This record gives sequence, structure tokens and C-alpha cells, in this order.
Amino acid sequence: MASASASAGAKVSIVWFRKGLRVHDNPALIEACRDAAHVYPIFQSSYKVTVNRYNFLLESLRDLDNSFRARGSRLLVLRGKPEEVLPRVFREWGAKQLCFEVDTEPYAKARDARVHQLAAEAGVEVHAAVSHTLYDTEMLVARHGGSPPLTMQSFTKLVDRVGDPPPPAPDPPAAIPPPAPGMPAADPAATGVPTWQEVGFTEAPVTIFKGGETEALRRLDASFADPKWVAGFQKPDTNPAAFERPATTVLSPYLKFGCLSARLFHARLLAVYREHKAHTQPPVSLRGQLLWREFFYTVGAHTPNFDRMVGNPICKQIPWDTNEEFYNAWREARTGEQLPAPDSGAGRTCKAREVVDHYINAANWMWLSASAFFSQYFRVYSPVTFGKKVYDPSGAFIRRFLPVLKDMPAKYIYEPWTAPLEVQRRAGCVVGVDYPRPILDHAVVSKRNTARMAEAYRANKCVAGPGGVVDELA
Ligand SMILES: Cc1cc2nc3c(=O)[nH]c(=O)nc-3n(C[C@H](O)[C@H](O)[C@H](O)COP(=O)(O)OP(=O)(O)OC[C@H]3O[C@@H](n4cnc5c(N)ncnc54)[C@H](O)[C@@H]3O)c2cc1C
Repeated sequence: MASASASAGAKVSIVWFRKGLRVHDNPALIEACRDAAHVYPIFQSSYKVTVNRYNFLLESLRDLDNSFRARGSRLLVLRGKPEEVLPRVFREWGAKQLCFEVDTEPYAKARDARVHQLAAEAGVEVHAAVSHTLYDTEMLVARHGGSPPLTMQSFTKLVDRVGDPPPPAPDPPAAIPPPAPGMPAADPAATGVPTWQEVGFTEAPVTIFKGGETEALRRLDASFADPKWVAGFQKPDTNPAAFERPATTVLSPYLKFGCLSARLFHARLLAVYREHKAHTQPPVSLRGQLLWREFFYTVGAHTPNFDRMVGNPICKQIPWDTNEEFYNAWREARTGEQLPAPDSGAGRTCKAREVVDHYINAANWMWLSASAFFSQYFRVYSPVTFGKKVYDPSGAFIRRFLPVLKDMPAKYIYEPWTAPLEVQRRAGCVVGVDYPRPILDHAVVSKRNTARMAEAYRANKCVAGPGGVVDELA
């Protein structure tokens, strides 16, 4: 990618990183560097999540800091809330411009509305660039008559009509004008990237995936090293139980934090497709996966209360049970019952990869729970046969992520409670002692829940009425 040219000027600008933790395809950074005397790259650290997610973020920030150092600058991690910190640094640094990437999540929208106001009061021009998604979702919705498409098919038709997304922005200049010396709020001693211990965590992170742009680009290159695989990718053929060598790209967390640009990923895909005319198509192709992401961002950003059921017009209203005990058992990977695979999956997810994308997570949960997008609630995954017959007969995934079951014979690995006591003893895993007893009987509960879902669907039809939003999705 060509670099944007550096031209020394008089402007003092701030480039504010939130997501978009990268220097490639970063239009906000390019704008901040244009005719600048000083560029202040900042990140505001005011929230605290779980240690794994935070550590992924810290690794990404360290990598970003290295990229700035290689260009003669550095990243400033400012402690405190944006609303408190920004007015202070606007004044101290004499900033004339604030550049950042558009973020369409509800929390970010509210925050940015306040920041726009504060910037206006301080006489600072705001430059907000779309680069987290392939397209400007506002534009997509406008091109769709003012409301978001609600099926992947109509979404794909829409993007076909709109045409390819903008290409990635050029790389930033090789030298970026650093912060001016002697600015207390940019004091290197107080603005470095902290460690997880400094943030206050006591439990060490357990990470399989290292954060950061460098790692994201390495992973992207690794996937694209095999263009035939890229061109022939079909999501339904990938194995969700593959972990040593994942069957998919594992780029999701990097896209979530913006360590990788979706537009760069998309441009690389188009280049492969030009060489391999017989490539797969959306929704199953690799480009199709990026379109799923885009679809959910577009619907999510234009649907009130997308991350919850109540007040969400596209979500069926279902009288879910609230069961704290079951929820905690699932969260802590001790459902013990006929769900060893989800237990190990949850164990892996919770302990190693708590890097979730707001809209994608909400959308996929609605999908799986047949609350929106998908309505065949009677198609229930069997936690036993799904892995046993389809993906992983030997239970390698379970053995890896639930080591307590590692010596259980394959015949019983999906249902250890059915193993004779002698077999359990030999495997060093006695159910009820070393491994929890099932918290429910899947056959009984799935039948009961299917009946309850049928009832909920009937009630929703009554609420929405013929042709109502709920019917349209069903
Ligand atoms: C209950 C549930 C919750 C989910 N929560 C998240 C989440 O929080 N964050 C998240 O990124 N994905 C989520 N997904 C979607 C999907 O499972 C992951 O994106 C995918 O497994 C990531 O693997 P990958 O990066 O190897 O994807 P690949 O198959 O290599 O696809 C490339 C990229 O396409 C996008 N993509 C792929 N599948 C989907 C999908 N189903 N929906 C939207 N975008 C997709 C992702 O950005 C992904 O990185 C969830 C799925 C389910 C069933």
C-alpha cells in the first residue's frame, strides 16, 4: 500500500483511537497527519472488562505504540473519562482538530455526541471517518429506502447494487510529527501503555490469541498463503471443533478491535477472486462471512435495543426463564449434563477469548435462539450427536478444553455419566466427584422448550398481527 505523503504544517491534531487499533487503512490517522505540526495519538483508558479481553486490548495498544515509535512518535494512553480528559488536552495542546473512526454502537454514539459538543465549545473541528465497517451503514440504509434489510439475501442484493466498498486508505507517512515537548498531559511517564497488573487485575490472562495489528496481518497473510483455500471457502464445511489448526481464519477478535481492517480483508478477497473465477459465493464464501458481519452491523446500528429483547422491534418476545444457577453453571463450564461440548466451548471462550463484537454477538444469539433472523425453533442441536457424529467422534476438542475428561474412552466422551463406574474410575473421572452431574436431561428439556417456543411464536403472531415485523421474519 502506498504511503500518504508527510507535509509539515501548522495544524495541531489529535487522533483518538477507540477501536481501529491499527495504522493501516486508517483514514482518521491520515487526516490527522495532513499538514500537521504536531499529532497526538491518544487512547483513553477508563473502562475495565475481564482480564483476557483487557489483555488483548493491551497487547494491541503496545503494538500500536510500537508502530508510532517506528514513525518517530508514540501512543499516549490517557487515564480518565473522555468527557473529562478531552477538554483539558484541547486547551493544553492547542488542538484544532480531533479525528476518530465512526463507531455505531449505542454507548459509543452517546459518548461521541457529547464529544462533538465539547469539541464545538473548544473550537475544535471533528473529523469522523467510517472505517470499521466496509460501508457507511447510514448510506446503506438510505439506499434501502430508510430501513435496514432484514434478511441476508436482501442485504447481499443491496451491496451488489451499491458496488464494492471503498478501497483501504494509504498507509500513514513514514514520519509522524510527534507531540510537542513539555506538555504535562502528554508526559511519557504518565501516558505509557499499562500492564494488566497495573490496571489492577490479580488473575493472569489466559490467552491463545495475541492481540495487535502485527499479529492480525500475520494471520491474514497466513490465511491468504493458500489462495485456493480462500477461493473455495465454504463456512458450512468448516469444522467448529478444529482448534490446533482452526478451520476458519480466527480474525474475528482482530476485526472487533480494528487491529485488522475489514476493507483490507475484503480487498484481498477480491484480488484472489479475480485469479480464481470459480470461487464460492455469499453467504457461504469468506466474503460472505464479511457480509454477515456487515449485515449485522447495519441492522444493529439501525434497530433500537438490538442487544436486548424488550423494546427490540425485530426480536420475538419470548418468556425466557431466568435461572441464575443454570446460567452460572454454563458460564463456569460446569453444566456437567449432556453438554460437555458446550462446556468445553464455554470454558475456552470464557477463559481464553472474551473478545466479543457487540452487534455480531447479539445477532447470532437472536439467530440461535430463533428470536430473529431464523425461525425454525424446532431444529434443536443435540450436544451429543452434533460432535459425536458430525465433527469430532474422538472428542479431541473436549479432551483439550476439559482435561478432566481426557482419558475417557471415545464411546463415552460425550455422555460420561453413561460410562460404567469402573470405566469412569479407570479414566480418573468419576461423575459427581471429579466432574459435575448433568444439571438437566436434554431429551426432556428440549421437548418441553420446543412446546414453549411454539406457544411463544403463536403469541407473537397475535401481537404483531398478519404482515407485522415478527411475521415478516418468521
Ligand atoms: C452465539 C454466537 C455468538 C457469536 N458471537 C460473536 C461475537 O461476539 N463476535 C464475532 O465476531 N462473532 C461472533 N459469532 C459469529 C461467528 O461464530 C464468529 O464470528 C466466527 O466463529 C469467528 O471465526 P473466524 O474469525 O475464524 O471467522 P471466519 O469464518 O474466518 O470469517 C471471517 C470473518 O467474518 C465474520 N463472520 C464470520 N461468521 C460470522 C457470523 N456468523 N456473523 C457475523 N460475522 C461473521 C467475522 O468478522 C469473521 O472474523 C457468534 C456466533 C454465535 C453462534
